[in-house]
Amino acid sequence: MILTDTHTHLYSEDFDEDRKEMIERAIQSNVTRFFIPAIDSTYTASMLELEKEFPNNIFLMMGLHPTHVKDNYKEELKHVEDMFAKRPFYAVGEIGIDLYWDQSTLQIQQEAFRYQIKLAKKYKLPIVIHCREAFNEVFEVLEEEKDSDLFGIFHCFTGSIEQAHQAMSYNMKLGIGGVVTFKNGKIDQFLNQIDLKHIVLETDAPYLAPAPYRGKRNESLYILKVLEKLSEIYNISKEEIARITTQNSKQIFKI
Ligand SMILES: [Zn+2]
Repeated sequence: MILTDTHTHLYSEDFDEDRKEMIERAIQSNVTRFFIPAIDSTYTASMLELEKEFPNNIFLMMGLHPTHVKDNYKEELKHVEDMFAKRPFYAVGEIGIDLYWDQSTLQIQQEAFRYQIKLAKKYKLPIVIHCREAFNEVFEVLEEEKDSDLFGIFHCFTGSIEQAHQAMSYNMKLGIGGVVTFKNGKIDQFLNQIDLKHIVLETDAPYLAPAPYRGKRNESLYILKVLEKLSEIYNISKEEIARITTQNSKQIFKI
């Protein structure tokens, strides 16, 4: 069994004390593929460091996170563009719109989102979308950008079944993580109506730990709890869910 964590911030300061051990215990439990979303330029060096340490397990993305689209966003986007010119990455991410933390930056968030989608298309790469309290705004951009070069993952999908279908209509897979184990997480109610070929697994570590670790630091190993829950929801063995979702991740990231 091979499990793929399609979204994990392993370079986070939250892992400074035990990063290596934390990654190794995941690998020992068959969680062997880690896709690492970027946040902003301040993390680039630690991401590259991580890749050097675990070259067979770590796959980097590059991008500017919507909550980090601030006054200096043009310089940040330049950094993203420079990094893509310099070396390959597996996706443009994470990018999107977040209106939970700051609504005043909506316009520049949308601009940064569009800009990075164009970058993804230029390099024929998937996008990894962060969407928080901004479904309409994200869908508005995707509707404009929709074409055969647009594809990727709707990370930490927490919407309704209608929103799931809309996301899938833009060639997006749904990134399913700890929220599916929450009592009020809602997506567990309809997920079995979505074909597994549209699903990938993620943790979003160190955030959004699944039950029974909810509220604590999350780590990639806990993707096993997400796997367990999906096995219940779909009534399919854990091995089969691991196989299909890892296959889906290979299809998207081309590795
Ligand atoms: Zn994230």
